[in-house]
Amino acid sequence: MKFNTKTIHGGQHNVDPAYGSVMPPIYQTSTYSQTTPGGHKGFEYSRSGNPTRAALERAFASIENGEFGLAFGSGLAAIDAIMKLLKPGDEVISTNDLYGGTYRLFTKIFEGFGIKFHFIGMENADKIEEHVNDKTKLIWVETPTNPMMNIIDIKKAVSIAKKHKILLAVDNTFATPYLQQPLEMGADIVMHSATKYLGGHSDVVMGALVVKDKELAERLYFIQNASGAVCGPQDSFLVLRGLKTLHIRMQRHCENGKAVAEYLAKHPKIEKVYWPGFESHPNHAIAKEQMNDFGGMISFVTKGNNYEEAIKIVENLKIFTLAESLGGVESLAGHPASMTHASIPKKEREKTGVVDSLIRLSVGIEDVDDLIADLEQAIG
Ligand SMILES: *Cc1c(COP(=O)(O)O)cnc(C)c1O
Repeated sequence: MKFNTKTIHGGQHNVDPAYGSVMPPIYQTSTYSQTTPGGHKGFEYSRSGNPTRAALERAFASIENGEFGLAFGSGLAAIDAIMKLLKPGDEVISTNDLYGGTYRLFTKIFEGFGIKFHFIGMENADKIEEHVNDKTKLIWVETPTNPMMNIIDIKKAVSIAKKHKILLAVDNTFATPYLQQPLEMGADIVMHSATKYLGGHSDVVMGALVVKDKELAERLYFIQNASGAVCGPQDSFLVLRGLKTLHIRMQRHCENGKAVAEYLAKHPKIEKVYWPGFESHPNHAIAKEQMNDFGGMISFVTKGNNYEEAIKIVENLKIFTLAESLGGVESLAGHPASMTHASIPKKEREKTGVVDSLIRLSVGIEDVDDLIADLEQAIG
C-alpha cells in the first residue's frame, strides 16, 4: 500500500467481525469477561489493551512504515516511556532547540533520576559524535525543530548512533510521516504528539510511538502497561478518524505554508522568516533531501525585536487564533518566549534564537488569501 491509502486503510482490515462496521466500535469498557481464568478473546483490561486503541496503534505503525505502534495519553507520556528504557548514569544527547515540555521533562524529572543530558545544536550533525561516550544510550532528534525550524540530518545522526550502538529516537510531530519517515532512514523509534497533525482537529491530547524492532516494542509495551499512561477509546477513535485525512490536510498545510512564508519574507516590517523551504535556509539542502515538502510551520521575527510589538501582533490576529499547540485544521499563532518556551530560561532560549519578538505560526487549511489578509491587518 502507498502512503495515501495507508492513512485510510493501514491496519484497519476487519475491525468489527461482529457487524462489519467500517470504523472500529468505541469499546468504552475497562474490562472483558473471561470464560475461565485467562480465557479471554485477546483483551483482559483496558490499560493493557483495548480494541479501539489497538486499531489506532496498527494505523500508527502502518503510516510510519513500522511494525509496532503504541498510543499514550499525551506526547509527553510517550517520551516519558522512552526515557524509562534508561537507567541512572545513562547519558542522552539531545537537540538544544526542542519542544519546551520535552526540555522540562528531561531536566526537571529525568535529571533528578540520575540521567545526564547533553543539549547541543544538531544542525551540524557531526557535533553529535563529540559527546558520545560509553554511557551514551539515546540520541534525541527533533526535526524540524520547534520553533526555530532547524533541520537535522537524520541519516547522519543514524550513522553515528549505529556506529556506537546507541538508540536513536525522532520526534516527528512537526513533519508527520507525510513529509518524512525516520524509521525508513534507520531511526529506532518515532515519536509523535498526536495532539497535533495526526489528530489534526485540536480536539484530543495524545502521544504515539512506532518501532520496527520486536524486542524494543516489547520493552516499550511493558512500560506502557506498567506505568499506565494510556489513552481512552473515545480519543483513540477521534485520532483514527483524523488520520484518514492526514495526507490531504498536509498537502494544503504545505501549500498555504509556502504562500504565507513568501508573503512574510517580503514584508518591510519583518526581519527574518524561518521556514525550511527557502533556499536561503541554512539546512535547505537536507530538508529537500529528507522531506517530501516543507510543512506549514513558520516562525518570524520583526525588525527591532520589540516584545510589546510582537504581543500586539498576536493579539490583533482574527483568523489565526492565539493559542498553544499546532497542527490542527485552523491556523494558530503563538509567542514562544511567553508561551510554549516560557519554561526555558531566557538566556538559554535566546541562545537558540527564541528572542522576544519571535512569533510562531501553525498555518491551517483555510483559504490562504484570508490568512494573508489577517496577517496584513495585524502586522500593519
Ligand atoms: C506538543 C509537542 C510535544 C508534547 O506533546 P503533548 O501531546 O502536548 O504531550 C512534543 N513534541 C513536540 C514537537 C510537540 O509539538
